[in-house]
Amino acid sequence: MNSISVFDIIKIGVGPSSSHTMGPWHAAMEFLKLLRPRLNELKSMQVSLYGSLAKTGKGHGTDYAVLMGLCGYDYRYKDTNYLLEQYDQLIQIKKILIDGSMSLDLTDDFIVFHYDITHEIHPNALKFEAFFDDDTSINQLYFSLGGGFISTLESPESTLNRSTSEFPCHHGKDILKFCDTFKWTIPELIRHNESTWLSQSEIEAQCLYLWEEMKKTIWRGLNNTGNLPGILKVKRRASDLYQQFTKGIKIADFDEFSAVLKLSDKSFAQVNQWISCFALAVNEENAAYGRVVTSPTNGACGVIPAVLCYAYHFLPQIGEKEIIDFILVAGEIGTLFKKNATISAAMGGCQAEIGVSSAMAAAALCQISGGSPAQVLMAAEIAMEHHLGLTCDPVAGLVQIPCIERNSMGAMKAITAANIAIVSDASQAKVSLDNVINTMWQTAQDMSLKYKETSEAGLASNISVNLIEC
Ligand code: SF4
Repeated sequence: MNSISVFDIIKIGVGPSSSHTMGPWHAAMEFLKLLRPRLNELKSMQVSLYGSLAKTGKGHGTDYAVLMGLCGYDYRYKDTNYLLEQYDQLIQIKKILIDGSMSLDLTDDFIVFHYDITHEIHPNALKFEAFFDDDTSINQLYFSLGGGFISTLESPESTLNRSTSEFPCHHGKDILKFCDTFKWTIPELIRHNESTWLSQSEIEAQCLYLWEEMKKTIWRGLNNTGNLPGILKVKRRASDLYQQFTKGIKIADFDEFSAVLKLSDKSFAQVNQWISCFALAVNEENAAYGRVVTSPTNGACGVIPAVLCYAYHFLPQIGEKEIIDFILVAGEIGTLFKKNATISAAMGGCQAEIGVSSAMAAAALCQISGGSPAQVLMAAEIAMEHHLGLTCDPVAGLVQIPCIERNSMGAMKAITAANIAIVSDASQAKVSLDNVINTMWQTAQDMSLKYKETSEAGLASNISVNLIEC
C-alpha cells in the first residue's frame, strides 16, 4: 500500500467537487505536461467525459475545471473570482489559450459528455486528445478517484509518490499497536510518520494554515448572500442565520466574530444552530465554486471545519496544540478509508464522502477531548457505522441538495459519536474501526450504480427541477 500523508487528505481545494472538479483539473494540468513539447504544432483538441463525470459533470463544474486546467491555471494559487471571470470570457469569445499561449477555437465538441459510456476500470474517466499539424495525435486517459486524486492505466495512483513512513499505519489496528508499543498518543505517532516528508515546524505550520483557510471560508460563507449558481436557484442560508444569531450587529472579521461567539448564549439549541450554520457556510462557498479546504472531499468539506469551529468556540481551552492534533488525527483517519475503501461517491455513494468526513471529525474531536487511542478509533467507528449505505443522489447534478445540509448532519453525528466514545470502555466495543471500513467498502460494492453520483435515482429523480424553477 502507498503511504499517504494527512496533507494529501486535507488540503486546499476549489468547489464544487473534488472528484468532478479538482480531479479533472489535475488531469488537465498533467496532460499539459505531455503537450508542452509540441504546443506550437497543436491544431485541435477534444476531451471526452465518461460515466459519472458525464452524468453530473455539468452540475459539478467538470467542463469548467478541464478548460481552466488546460489554460494552465492552478486553482491553489489563483483567486476563484478571477478564475470564474476567465471562464466566462472564454465561453463568450469561444476561444481557449492552451497553457496561456496557444489559441484554439472552443468548438461545441471540444468537450464531449458520453452519458451512456462508463469505463470498466472506474466510473470517473476522462480522455484528452491533441491533434497536430502533421496529422499525428497524442491522447491520455485519466481516472478521478475522489478527493482530487487521479490515476492512469499506466500509473494506478499517479498523484501519490511518497516514500514509506517509519511506522506504516494501513489499518486501525496498526495505529493501536504503535501507540501501545511506544506509549504514544495518536498525534505523536502521526508526527513521527509525517516527519518522513516534513519537519515538525512544517507540520505545525501546515495544520495552522489549513485552519486559517477554514476560517476564511466560513467567514465568506457567513457574509455572502444571494442564490447559488445553477438551475435550482438555491438561496444561501448561512448569512441569514448569521445575521439572525448576531442580531445584525456589525462585526469586522472572523476574530471579532470569535470573541462575540465565545461570550454568547451556549444553550444546546443555540450551539446546535451555530454548528449547522458553520457547515452551511462552508458548503455554500463550495457550491459557488469557492476556495475550500478539501477534507477528504469537497461535497463533504463542511463537516471538519464545523466540528473544529464548534470545539474552538464552545469547548474550554482549545489552542494551537489542539487544533494541530485535530487536523492530524482527522487526516490520519481519512487515509485509512482511502487505503481500504474509497473516498469517491462515484464508487461508494455519500457514505464515502459525508460518512468519511464525519468519522474523521469524530476521531479528531475525541482526541482533543482527551480520548485514549482506542476511544478515538471508536469515535470514528461509531460515526461511520451510522452513515453506512448513505447514497449519493444530488438534485440536478449540483452539489447543493442534499449535499449542503448533509454536512450539518455529518458534523452533528461526529460530535455525538465523539461524546459517546469518550465515556465508553473501548475495550468492550464489538465493532472495530477496521470492521466498519470493510463493511463500508462491501456496501459500496453492493450499492446500485444509480446511487453513485449519477443523479438518476433517489432525491434527484423525485424532485422536479421544472417545479423548482417556477
Ligand atoms: S450527495 Fe453526498 S456524495 Fe453526493 S454529491 Fe452530495 S455530498 Fe457528495
